[in-house]
Amino acid sequence: MGKQVLTTCPYCGSGCQLYLNVENGKIVSSTPANGRTNEGNLCLKGHYGWDYLNDPQILTKRLTKPQIRKNGVLEEVEWDEAINYTAKRLNEIKEKYGPDSIMGTGCARGSGNEANFVMQKFMRAAVGTNNIDHCARVCHAPSVAGLQYSLGSGAMSISIPEIEDTKLLFVIGYNPAESHPIMARRIVKAKQKGAKIIVADPRITETARISDMHLQLKGGSNLALVQAMGNVIIAEGMVDQKFVDDHTLGYEEYKKTVEKYTPEYVESICHLPAETIRQAAREYAKAERAAILWGMGVCQFGQAVDVVKGLASLALLTGNFGGPSMGVGPVRGQNNVQGGCDMGALPNCYSGYQNVTDDAAREKFEKAWGVKLPKENGIPLTQVPHHVLDVKDEKKRLHAYYIFGEDPGQSDPDLHDMREALDKLDFVIMQDIYMNKTGLKADVILPATAWGEHDGVYSSADRGFQRIRKAVEPKGDLKTDWEIICLVSTAMGYPMSYKNTKEIWDEMRSLTPSFYGATYEKMEELGCVQWPCRDESMEDKGTPYLHKGGIFAHPNGKANFFATEWRAPGEIEDVEYPFTLSTVREVGHYSVRTMTGNCRTLTNLEDEPGWIQMSLEDCKKLNLKQSELIRVNSRRGSVITRVMPTERVKTGATYMTYQWWIGACNELTVPYLDPVSNTPESKYCAINLEKI
Ligand code: SF4
Repeated sequence: MGKQVLTTCPYCGSGCQLYLNVENGKIVSSTPANGRTNEGNLCLKGHYGWDYLNDPQILTKRLTKPQIRKNGVLEEVEWDEAINYTAKRLNEIKEKYGPDSIMGTGCARGSGNEANFVMQKFMRAAVGTNNIDHCARVCHAPSVAGLQYSLGSGAMSISIPEIEDTKLLFVIGYNPAESHPIMARRIVKAKQKGAKIIVADPRITETARISDMHLQLKGGSNLALVQAMGNVIIAEGMVDQKFVDDHTLGYEEYKKTVEKYTPEYVESICHLPAETIRQAAREYAKAERAAILWGMGVCQFGQAVDVVKGLASLALLTGNFGGPSMGVGPVRGQNNVQGGCDMGALPNCYSGYQNVTDDAAREKFEKAWGVKLPKENGIPLTQVPHHVLDVKDEKKRLHAYYIFGEDPGQSDPDLHDMREALDKLDFVIMQDIYMNKTGLKADVILPATAWGEHDGVYSSADRGFQRIRKAVEPKGDLKTDWEIICLVSTAMGYPMSYKNTKEIWDEMRSLTPSFYGATYEKMEELGCVQWPCRDESMEDKGTPYLHKGGIFAHPNGKANFFATEWRAPGEIEDVEYPFTLSTVREVGHYSVRTMTGNCRTLTNLEDEPGWIQMSLEDCKKLNLKQSELIRVNSRRGSVITRVMPTERVKTGATYMTYQWWIGACNELTVPYLDPVSNTPESKYCAINLEKI
């Protein structure tokens, strides 16, 4: 007998609902469900991204047994040995160098919120450190930091379904057709309903193609553009002064800073005509309700937090908060990167963004968990190479790294440094579903169940808690992520055990006021509960949009304006390295392809590793043909890839995807970080090109 299992897609923050159709213990297809965000639609990853669950060896061998490195070689062992060895080594390192010598990650992919909650509890309560972080650090950490400063809450203020009813969408540094196809569909619907679309992007993306105005700005000039738009709105008397007076602080200082950012002043920074900038600002300001959406083209720059604050300031200037279909939307890329943040897999906060430095919050968690907890913020994961390689005091550097569902050996910037750090660490634990670049350096491999093989909850990009459900039995000697973490913790001397994910979720809720009302029962009934949701009763159905009535999440209810001086990217092009490189994504694959790279249909669609997008003029000048192999060099490394000539990019700018082992562009990227969020500048470095 077959069955249909309702679950949430594991491939982006759109949070699409789908049925996995199971026959004889195997998934045979997926069917779109009528979810809140997808309304019976899926992109190709939702349709075909389940294949790896049926066969443990489609392209890569699925991890099916724990392994320990013995005499330099990974050997399969029983779970007892793997758990006891892991716990013993962690305890030895903790005793010798202290708890802060150990770092751990959460997982924004298939594992679920409960596993992230258990992981951050393990690091804080069992290990005794706040050194816990996850891949939000390399993506939307600037959105969280910037919006928390501006609005008091770091999440999307708008809901995904509301997007189609906005009157104007300002899409900046965001290519939804590749990263969130179902969001792209909403943008098309908004356009069909009469909304104006303004896109700011150095590439001609699919959204740029359907836009009313495309600002094809120079990479690295976002802040100059955003502040020039603020300048025009003020200079032309388009400010919603009542909203500014009633609901915000810092307007006069903001006004003073953006005064010099006239469209004429930023023309040469943005490579845009002044009149085009003026026109974009006018359209945005005069819209009855407008929303701003952004992605990695805003966040992966060294001045990303400032840009996020600048975007929030534009929305404040024009009174675009307080109701539906307006506001700001940092659209989270990975399916559960919002969940990693929500659950406290961050170095500075527990679940629900309760700060570790807040005595009252810490005491509450101490009482619940029965231990003293560390008071200092932990290390962001992009600082790991520095804390391994550059800190000379053995007592102060990192010695162990528990990597759960991440592959920093491919996804982090400047891989040379990351590999050296992994080599130097005394102990590396990898908990994952497939062998990856990081696993090649690991001392212990802990094989976990994957999406489709376990239960839990994901957080969608717009704060929606939705269930994921087990559809098939795992094939191999596997455990769920939270079970593995609990076993290691217990073996280390801090017992943790739960009967199921609901029990973990209920503990999390009991400690997290803003999520307290989001029960499993309510998720079953409603399909999705958007936080904040504080009351368990069915009366509280969650919060589709934030900042109702212009009341912001800061204790005083006000929002903060912010502007500062624009600065150029950390490494700019020169005679030796005359091209710029930006990392991008491709629609058929997800992150570093752990799951999608093992799905037949998706690999058939995109079966050759890597490419570099270049302008037709540059290809002509260098006599490069379509698919020709080329060597790409930066000051940090060198890779070989294929040429993809395209009219979509400007002369001098190039684009590569980070998703493949071969031609991995993070060999080239800079480790230059935003000083507030510690997010890498993956969207800009200098390269040269060599014919081979
Ligand atoms: Fe929806 Fe994203 Fe999954 Fe595509 S990848 S089906 S847009 S959740």
